[in-house]
Amino acid sequence: MSVNRLHIGIFGRVNTGKSSLINMITGQEISLVSHFPGTTTDPVKKSVEITDIGPAVLIDTAGMDDLGEIGSMKIQRSKEVIRRVDCAILLISGNQFGDYEVRLIEQFNKNEVPYLIAHNKSDIDKIAAITKTAIKQYSNAEIIDFSTTHPADKERLIGALKRIVPETAFLKSSLIGDLVKPKDVVLLITPIDEAAPEGRLILPQNQTLRDALDNDCVVIVIKDTELADFSKLRIRPALAISDSSVFGIVAKRLPQDIPLTSFSILFARLKGDFEAYMAGTPKISQLEEDDHVLILESCTHQVSCDDIGRVKIPTLLQKFTGNKLRFTVVSGLTELPANPRDFALVVQCGGCMITRKQLLNRLRPFIEAGVPVTNYGMALAYLHGIFNRATRVFNKKSTELQLFPDF
Ligand code: SF4
Repeated sequence: MSVNRLHIGIFGRVNTGKSSLINMITGQEISLVSHFPGTTTDPVKKSVEITDIGPAVLIDTAGMDDLGEIGSMKIQRSKEVIRRVDCAILLISGNQFGDYEVRLIEQFNKNEVPYLIAHNKSDIDKIAAITKTAIKQYSNAEIIDFSTTHPADKERLIGALKRIVPETAFLKSSLIGDLVKPKDVVLLITPIDEAAPEGRLILPQNQTLRDALDNDCVVIVIKDTELADFSKLRIRPALAISDSSVFGIVAKRLPQDIPLTSFSILFARLKGDFEAYMAGTPKISQLEEDDHVLILESCTHQVSCDDIGRVKIPTLLQKFTGNKLRFTVVSGLTELPANPRDFALVVQCGGCMITRKQLLNRLRPFIEAGVPVTNYGMALAYLHGIFNRATRVFNKKSTELQLFPDF
């Protein structure tokens, strides 16, 4: 699944014409067929290119309106899909609008998912005024009456779809754009040790380098071992960004007045709820004996992230607080624990494999329940005593620059 593609969920009862709708939107004969039609609870995904919109992932929640045991599992799955999508199409036909649609609308609203209501098969049965009135009792969404058998309706449908696509889905966020100006010197400190991959920089370093170049900065990349040599150049960076693993050494060597942060904190800001992380991270100090900590890994089978979330952070948290804590790990985008208040702290991974919206929706129930949330990078910064220095740069008042002394 591509993180940068727009994720569009297609919801609707069986036989409303979801496959035909998908073919109409994409202009291709795409078959979103599950292996076990009618029995699987898994949504089917397909990466597509939509004219005038761009790359997208269509998520078809086929047949999720069944009754019975499998039906309720499917409803649960459709709720999970709603938390992951950027926008949604609620497909109806034959003027059928009832509890099923109302429940979906409630979920769209709860998760702030923009949606449109598309009434299909208008060639057979046009949408009736009474149906529109019923819909308007529950929803202010745009209603479009169309038929997948009318090619001319495609433009209207895509137009309506474009109107619900959130602007943020297309915004190219900058990691440091608000922290620097063109021609500023940005110093990147990237240790090349045994953990570094052969012949390349790791993704966060690579993306930050590109971001600094995109912001017309003068970028200097050094290893931590070359800091003393860099100081001899007497160049004053407007911003220094260090790998978390050497942050302590870098913070000691770089004068206090040089704004310094870490790659992982920049990504926490780009991807997560930074305000909530800023408020939640210091709550680590308040953890008590036997408190329950939830570790959220947003994908599965990432060995190095497993190490951080399952070994490193739990060990450091217990050492730091001097308390024995309980840990639960939830991997991937699976169902979250039913009661957020069971947890004293949530530690979210960097979320590099999911979209910002997906990540925010995962955190939302905990933030709403008043449970402190943090993420791997910010928790590690706190546990290593560098949180204040690494986040000071985001407090504008403290970033005024002074003359650059030797270091
Ligand atoms: S940080 Fe990225 S790789 Fe690691 S668990 Fe989260 S989504 Fe997966």
